[in-house]
Amino acid sequence: MPDRYAVIGHPIAHSKSPLIHGLFAQATGQDMTYDMIDGGAEPGGFDRALASFRTAGGRGLNVTLPFKLQALAAATQASDDARLAGAANALRFDGERIEAQNFDGIGLVRDIEHNLGLPLAGKRVLLLGAGGATRGALLPLARAGVARLVLANRTAAKATGLAREAAPHLGGCVVEGGGLADLTASDTFELVINATSSSLSGEAPAVPASAFASAALAYDMVYGKGLTPFLKAAQAARCARVADGVGMLVEQAAEAFAWWRGVRPDTRDVLARLTVPLV
Ligand code: NAP
Repeated sequence: MPDRYAVIGHPIAHSKSPLIHGLFAQATGQDMTYDMIDGGAEPGGFDRALASFRTAGGRGLNVTLPFKLQALAAATQASDDARLAGAANALRFDGERIEAQNFDGIGLVRDIEHNLGLPLAGKRVLLLGAGGATRGALLPLARAGVARLVLANRTAAKATGLAREAAPHLGGCVVEGGGLADLTASDTFELVINATSSSLSGEAPAVPASAFASAALAYDMVYGKGLTPFLKAAQAARCARVADGVGMLVEQAAEAFAWWRGVRPDTRDVLARLTVPLV
């Protein structure tokens, strides 16, 4: 019997995870299946789906919106990344144990450093947003050696609070939080990451052009939307390079696959297949 894995979310039909994990399994010769589970909108839907998947012998789940917080709550053990993110995007089942991980930020760092060739050690990074994607990126960016991390959010208090909460966990990485409006012309960065959901509504966070002027890369976590308003603003401000989050998606999947199966798949072919040109 092949080992069973799945992605759970609501809605879920748009998920690329079955395609990605199917290609990884084929390329690495793993005997496994990977399905989609719609956890539904009813209260308790996630817990019921989780219980029935485990009873049926399921080995691991990817978790997407809106269940990432519930996935962490259901876990018996959680990684530091998942705990600081306050959310899990991958679960692994071993007897009574439910282990939780959050690979989103690890996938982001891997994409920036490995696929896009920008080492993060010593860099000044502007991270826009203060939601789940920002939380998940903090620890991996700090581990990669980022020197200074500025969190800027539409609702300033959320970024200020998150910076205060995260600071004791980020080692030598200096973290500050504030509003988008607090960014001044003297704030320059080597990397600007859009971890807001603004691109999903065709908007861009209000960032001064000067923030991009000395940046080697502007990175929008959204994927498959082409040149988003944020990436266009970065180009107009003469940012050296722009990228979307497709590599983050594929790399976080590869991390989960390696965690489950003990073999890390090569991501190049899958990334090429999912990449939408930035035009
Ligand atoms: P979230 O928890 O809902 O947070 C949304 C954030 O976006 C908040 O900080 C919010 O600011 C801000 N925001 C929303 N609309 C805005 C606008 N028009 N202008 C400025 N700021 C705005 O969402 P999330 O889970 O962090 O996800 C954020 C993005 O990351 C999504 O687009 C998601 O698709 C993407 N993502 C990609 C990957 C990947 O693998 N590539 C993985 C995870 C997430 P307020 O606090 O002021 O409301």
